[in-house]
Amino acid sequence: MLQVIKLIKDIKQRIRALKEDRVRIGFVPTMGAVHEGHLSLIREARKENGAVVVSIFVNPLQFGKNEDFDRYPRTFDNDCNLLSQEGVDIVFKPDTSEMFPDGFCTSVVPARLEDKLCGKFRPGHFRGVAVIVLKLLNLIKPDIAYLGQKDFQQAVVIKRMVSDLHLDVAIKVLPTIRDRNGLALSSRNAYLSETEKKDALCLYQALTKAHSMVNAGIQNTESIVREMEKIINTTKSAVIDYISIVSPETLEEEPIARSGNVAALAVRIGKTRLIDNMIL
Ligand code: AMP
Repeated sequence: MLQVIKLIKDIKQRIRALKEDRVRIGFVPTMGAVHEGHLSLIREARKENGAVVVSIFVNPLQFGKNEDFDRYPRTFDNDCNLLSQEGVDIVFKPDTSEMFPDGFCTSVVPARLEDKLCGKFRPGHFRGVAVIVLKLLNLIKPDIAYLGQKDFQQAVVIKRMVSDLHLDVAIKVLPTIRDRNGLALSSRNAYLSETEKKDALCLYQALTKAHSMVNAGIQNTESIVREMEKIINTTKSAVIDYISIVSPETLEEEPIARSGNVAALAVRIGKTRLIDNMIL
């Protein structure tokens, strides 16, 4: 039976009981609007743990002033049905005031990583991500937390934080789930019109191009990025925020593209900002 917990005192008590019973806890943090990408993480967590906890929290600290916090899809009842079907034990769904009561002022700064890639376009975003994930890890105390490669920079920031702060949790990053055309699943895809959904395939096409160029022995990042830009720029509704080929730990740009580097991009399709990446 899926148990919905909203209060910090209740989640603490429930986690304490699980720990006393020595139950392994798998944790999947989300912002809800659950899709197959989330479910892939949940299924892995279900296989590997005695208890699975999913959090649903649309974190205001990781949204910029003019971003989509207010209209971010919130589909809690449907989410619960899906989580129930996957055998999730606990959904933790705190209110904003529960997580950030008046007076809250502590921040976590992923220095050096926060200004790269998406950070350039979303100032403060990764501080917001880091502090909420740290809070959730402190509350849930999971043995393993499951993240998606889809949010590559987020996974890098969280792994770094876990290592820097000696947190006692293993982080597993699982592959990006795509629809049959290659579009990476995302809660934000709900914003796309049918035409925009077709246009959005240019992200995957550009990444596939980079992948095949590296496979063909082309290593010059500039020429790879130029080919990727061509693909995006021939798509009517698409505007590039960035295209980069980076090292997967430091997020530093790699002038010579090698297998194991990550091609990452953010593209606006109409009003919707999409991100995607591929390990080369
Ligand atoms: P979100 O609800 O968008 O914050 O995502 C919650 C978790 O699901 C994050 O670790 C994401 O990286 C992961 N996730 C989102 N979309 C996908 C996807 N298409 N494939 C795999 N994981 C995903």
